[in-house]
Amino acid sequence: MTEMFDMVVVGGGPSGATAANDLALAGHRVMLLDRMGRVKPCGGAVPPRLLKDFDVPVDLLCAKANSARMISPAGREVDMPVGEGGWVGMVDRDEFDEWLRARAATNGADRRDGSFEGMEREPDGTAVVLYHPKGAERGSEPVRVHTKMLIGCDGCNSAVARAALPDEKLPFVAAYHEIVESPPEGFGGFVGNRCDVFYQGKHSPDFYSWVFPHGSKTSIGTGSAVQGFELRKAITALRAELGLTEDKCKTVRVEGAPIPLRPRKKWDNGKDVVVAGDAAGCVAPASGEGIFYAMTAGREVAKAASEALVSGDASKLRLARKRFMKAHGMVFRVLGIMQWWWYRSDKMREKFVKLCMDKDIQQLTWEAYMNKELVRKKPLAHVKIFLKDTAELLTGLISGGGTRESKSAGKRGQL
Ligand SMILES: Cc1cc2nc3c(=O)[nH]c(=O)nc-3n(C[C@H](O)[C@H](O)[C@H](O)COP(=O)(O)OP(=O)(O)OC[C@H]3O[C@@H](n4cnc5c(N)ncnc54)[C@H](O)[C@@H]3O)c2cc1C
Repeated sequence: MTEMFDMVVVGGGPSGATAANDLALAGHRVMLLDRMGRVKPCGGAVPPRLLKDFDVPVDLLCAKANSARMISPAGREVDMPVGEGGWVGMVDRDEFDEWLRARAATNGADRRDGSFEGMEREPDGTAVVLYHPKGAERGSEPVRVHTKMLIGCDGCNSAVARAALPDEKLPFVAAYHEIVESPPEGFGGFVGNRCDVFYQGKHSPDFYSWVFPHGSKTSIGTGSAVQGFELRKAITALRAELGLTEDKCKTVRVEGAPIPLRPRKKWDNGKDVVVAGDAAGCVAPASGEGIFYAMTAGREVAKAASEALVSGDASKLRLARKRFMKAHGMVFRVLGIMQWWWYRSDKMREKFVKLCMDKDIQQLTWEAYMNKELVRKKPLAHVKIFLKDTAELLTGLISGGGTRESKSAGKRGQL
């Protein structure tokens, strides 16, 4: 007899583990399938709201940062304290993801280590999921299970999306980081409770580079959508500039992965397959923040799949994207415009970092990050920022400051 599940969730990252946990708690028979064995490359910065919304204990954080330093092409340094005791949390993805998967299993998800190989249909239309259990012999027959719903949370290159959804090219940033042993406090400008963000074309022609502290370890990384831009070389150069070379702080791991930059137009097949997280392109432009959004999308997808299953109305699957975009679409659009406008040249990046000196901008930025909403309570500050932005925009257009230096550097990536 082929096993039958209500839902099979492929991918046990933040999105899939959240979806599986919610579905198990709702009483569904759910399988959580993850191929395991690789730590997700990630800077690991999360907002406090994530801990609150998803009931994640604070001791899962490996560090807290209470300020960010923005560094301009000319080397201007602007510190942005979070203020009022606020912080940005840091997670190590090996521990964080495992904790989420273990919680889902404790709450009733049937957890399996294996690789999704594809889906087929029985003559009556029932979905069949094919997977290879971890450690299975090469060339062995895949395991087959039946499912009423298939949920793809298998990351940016989602095999589930490829198998069941219309082909869609998503713009993406290729990101790469090196996990190093943290240097002593103050060495190479390193501060254990501060995130350093480099807006410098030499280290990233169209995104940013970072030094994020993780307690005993630190993530030093960069991203770019420009094909051919050498991320590894850029990090070697950044580390050399900061004096954080191999002899001073040992490299623990090096790894890279794509970050999608726009939500997919369609998350479901109108029948029994739906995707979330990176698989659905749920990452904030400009910041590349994806963990909170992956978990939020995982939750929405679980809710919509449950509603579709219980009511027998497959059109309810569409609600996942609809609700997610209602809550976060505007923030994504604003950040997309910001990225397009401010990350286009060193001249614009210089102005952007200068703008970050403004206390109102700092406050609005942190409030938006912490609460995941555009802040409405300080209308005067918005007017001020709008006027400043417009002035920058006009001077930029008149003086040609909007020239895209990254365009000439190569083609932009699409998945
Ligand atoms: C270098 C880098 C730095 C980043 N920094 C940050 C940051 O500081 N803060 C932040 O919020 N976001 C950051 N992001 C983005 C963030 O990592 C992602 O948005 C987030 O991990 C998405 O979660 P997810 O669950 O959708 O997918 P993933 O975390 O990619 O998880 C996908 C899961 O699916 C599994 N899987 C894949 N294929 C299969 C298969 N065929 N069969 C079975 N299992 C499969 C994988 O093993 C994995 O566990 C960063 C990304 C990169 C690349």
